[in-house]
Amino acid sequence: MSNPIQTVGIIGSGTMGNGIAQACATNGIRVVMVDIAQTAIDKGLATVSGSLDRLIKKEKITAADKAKALSLIQGSTNYDDLKGAQLVIEAATENEALKIKILQQLDGVLAADVIVATNTSSISITKLAAATQRADRFVGMHFFNPVPMMALVEIIRGLQTSDATHDAVKSLAERLGKTPITVKNAPGFVVNRILVPMINEAFFVLAEGLATPEDIDAGMKLGTNQPIGPLALADMIGLDVCLAVMNVYMAEFNDSKYRPAPLLKEMVAAGWLGRKTGRGVYTY
Ligand code: NAD
Repeated sequence: MSNPIQTVGIIGSGTMGNGIAQACATNGIRVVMVDIAQTAIDKGLATVSGSLDRLIKKEKITAADKAKALSLIQGSTNYDDLKGAQLVIEAATENEALKIKILQQLDGVLAADVIVATNTSSISITKLAAATQRADRFVGMHFFNPVPMMALVEIIRGLQTSDATHDAVKSLAERLGKTPITVKNAPGFVVNRILVPMINEAFFVLAEGLATPEDIDAGMKLGTNQPIGPLALADMIGLDVCLAVMNVYMAEFNDSKYRPAPLLKEMVAAGWLGRKTGRGVYTY
């Protein structure tokens, strides 16, 4: 694409969708954010507003910057409003059948040259691309949570993704102030492929009684310069999510090195899922 992207469509106004909307709007890019219900849109816009208020308090932006950013975000429940976008980023609920339905709906609305990206954490980019009529103009853009704070975007090339598509979303990520890395499609991409087995290993270490949870986390924080230990991080992500990811690696790679830790499975079976249930490795 020769012209830079001026308007980005976003599907889903949840955690990731509204974060991506904020990152675009604060960098002067117009956004059309589509969700299924007006209540979801309102909630997404309120989250952006609250997040911008915190930046004003920290004197990172002014009230005028906030007003300008909010004026660039249009909420909508109508896919037809995406017609002016040069790029649409799908950030709806993580469900393969739902995403395929949305992508096919987009094919019916968008001009042929529009790029479509997905923020999926776990579904194959190659497989989703094959379900669209624009496989070469389809790509993964994996943002990290919270989007306005996190500098990384993994750009995932499906087997069919063209160089022009890759280059267009890479330069957009840079305009958002992010650092993109380019990754070939594979389960977990790069970051989660390394991160989640590390968390899983921490559960093996805990089960073997090698150290207390506090000492395992302190060891990894101080010894590898991570801001949070793997067990505390598991509680934040959700133990059920960590287990589901390990199960995907086990199924996709068929390699026993991805065997989920029995203690992780046991804690998920107990309903100890982490912060969201008040108890995981730690109690909240
Ligand atoms: P979320 O549940 O917070 O938001 C999803 C939104 O999609 C909801 O508002 C829902 O109403 C909307 N939606 C559902 N069906 C829709 C449709 N047909 N059209 C338009 N909107 C629809 O989910 P999330 O955490 O923002 O995750 C979104 C995507 O981002 C998922 O693919 C997830 O795997 C990925 N992701 C999440 C994180 C994270 O930490 N939460 C990090 C990276 C990637």
